[in-house]
Amino acid sequence: MAGPIGEGSADQVRRAQLSESLAAARERVAAAERAAGRPAGSARLMVVTKYFPARDMELLIELGAAEFGENREPEAGRKVAQVREDRPESVFTVDMIGSLQRKKARTVARWAHRVQSVDSAELVDALAAAARSSLERGDRTTPLGVLLQLSLDGDPRRGGAVAGALPALADQVLAADDALRLDGLMVIAPLSGEAGAHLAAAARVHEQFRERYPQAVELSAGMSGDLEDAIVNGSTCVRVGTAIMGPRPILSP
Ligand SMILES: *Cc1c(COP(=O)(O)O)cnc(C)c1O
Repeated sequence: MAGPIGEGSADQVRRAQLSESLAAARERVAAAERAAGRPAGSARLMVVTKYFPARDMELLIELGAAEFGENREPEAGRKVAQVREDRPESVFTVDMIGSLQRKKARTVARWAHRVQSVDSAELVDALAAAARSSLERGDRTTPLGVLLQLSLDGDPRRGGAVAGALPALADQVLAADDALRLDGLMVIAPLSGEAGAHLAAAARVHEQFRERYPQAVELSAGMSGDLEDAIVNGSTCVRVGTAIMGPRPILSP
């Protein structure tokens, strides 16, 4: 699209920035996999694009990124719709990674590949109903993936369910297997204490969980600041925002 003079070059500058920061993040992930003795590609890089425009997601897709994380609805739904309209041919997935109100389950089920922040029986119910109607309408063709969010410290502000509450939620997801698919666990390391110790604790919970739910192979752990610790501790999906996108805008709508 031809825009005013300067618009093209701003876009080129952003593309160059994202190209460099994405390459650096990929190199961090690869180095952490090597250091942990893990196969290349066993920890996937998810780019967290929350607060940033649809255009950034498009540039990242051109640079080869294929997995994205968003945390706010309706901003996320609008962004995904925009990118799908601009690039109907491109293949990418977007996960909901932020805390989710039940009343927003319906719209999230239209675009989300998975919801990583599932932490209550009420939310599982709402997502199952929402995914069912999305499947019926043809908005989606596959069940909605679910990662149960583990809370290591029980702090309700950060979301998540304590380890002891996970099996009941997992059984509920399995009971809705026409609409939902149990993919694994997600964790955000608590702010206090040492990230490495928290992530090691999360890895132990995940190992036990997988004994009972072998299909739950995913452990989504690690962000810009702690992805190396997470990869040593078995993370299969690191969610990286700031290190790729730059600092988030302070004002949010
Ligand atoms: C924002 C966010 C991230 C990314 O955090 P950075 O520190 O910017 O990499 C990861 N996970 C969740 C759940 C988030 O909300």
